[in-house]
Amino acid sequence: MNNRKINFDTLPSFEGEIDPTQRAWIEVSGKAIEANVRQLRSKLKNNCEFMAVVKADGYGHDAKVVSENAIKGGASQLGVATLKEGIKLRSFGINAPILVLGNLYTKKDLLICFRNNLMPTVSTFRECLICNNIGKSNNFKFSLHLKVDTGMSRLGFECDQFNQQFNIIKSLENIAVKGIYSHLACADEKNALNPKSSTQLQKEKFQELLKIIDIDNTENIKIHLANSAGMILGKDFHFDMVRVGLSMYGYSPLANINENLFLKPALFLKAKVTFVRTIEKGIGVSYGNKFVSDRKTKLAVLSIGYADGIIRNLSGKISLIHNKKLYTQVGSITMDQMMVDITDSNDIEVGSTMLLLGSEGDKSISPIDWADKCNSIPWEILCSFKNRLPRVQVD
Ligand SMILES: *Cc1c(COP(=O)(O)O)cnc(C)c1O
Repeated sequence: MNNRKINFDTLPSFEGEIDPTQRAWIEVSGKAIEANVRQLRSKLKNNCEFMAVVKADGYGHDAKVVSENAIKGGASQLGVATLKEGIKLRSFGINAPILVLGNLYTKKDLLICFRNNLMPTVSTFRECLICNNIGKSNNFKFSLHLKVDTGMSRLGFECDQFNQQFNIIKSLENIAVKGIYSHLACADEKNALNPKSSTQLQKEKFQELLKIIDIDNTENIKIHLANSAGMILGKDFHFDMVRVGLSMYGYSPLANINENLFLKPALFLKAKVTFVRTIEKGIGVSYGNKFVSDRKTKLAVLSIGYADGIIRNLSGKISLIHNKKLYTQVGSITMDQMMVDITDSNDIEVGSTMLLLGSEGDKSISPIDWADKCNSIPWEILCSFKNRLPRVQVD
């Protein structure tokens, strides 16, 4: 008998050497992001700038990869939701103007924002004064964007009080207003092009306001309103800049018009088969045995589950791609694994890779398909993926 004890403390750590593609991972195509930005920019009004919205770690794609490639494609500004997201981009050496879309309301946060050369979104006169004070004590102008509410009822100055407040804000010497913007609430709805839709009314309200306020043209204040859906509605929504998220990642915000946008999904979600078994007819699969085989069934156990961000409500509703063929997921999705019916396959084995999202040959599965199946939206699907899934840039 060998009673030799292993001293684990003296063993080298191999953690950094684990292959990121050994279990489940997300492949991100930088080229697709770059191409999508170019493609979308070709639809823009002359001189209209493109802000790449990279909040929530670039909609789950890896904000660094997305930002760098969006800039290659011609994006001139970046949008993030939080201070931390902005600081992270600066730490990667990204120099483009960055707008924080969420509201910073404490002196401390606004000071950190200033020190990292990030622009806050300002929705109150109080925040303007704080920014002006920060600018003053640093002998500098604090660059920021003002937001007005035209119908979202989220952030922004009240539209009807803005004119008055803007006149005072302009007189503050230590802030530089770099943008005035608003946000659309219903641009992705089917009726958005209808002249009486709330989206058109929001645009008109914004235009009316811009007519009243006294903007000095020499100051180069960027006016912006449109998200992805707003951008697609037409050039009268473009103003000086658009703020694009979803469609830059390759998905149409309006599910029915994907074809004429020529966008390329940039994300491929993949997982490895770690086990294969065959069960007889009439055997239950996974928690609750909600799936019972109706024939002798070959199952692949896939190493991905809801702790990776796969919504459990998709159990039994999704398909996966392997070698250009579709296979049905069966039984409840578990925390870390799920089962797939591979009875009809002769080329799937332990170590095979299956594709959950993305395309291969003529087969393609998108977050829009998943969203439809679980009463969600593609935005939510994309940003539900957890950090347990390594992001791997493929080109
Ligand atoms: C997230 C966000 C966007 C981008 O929206 P998409 O629909 O993904 O294009 C634009 N503007 C603001 C203020 C946002 O919060």
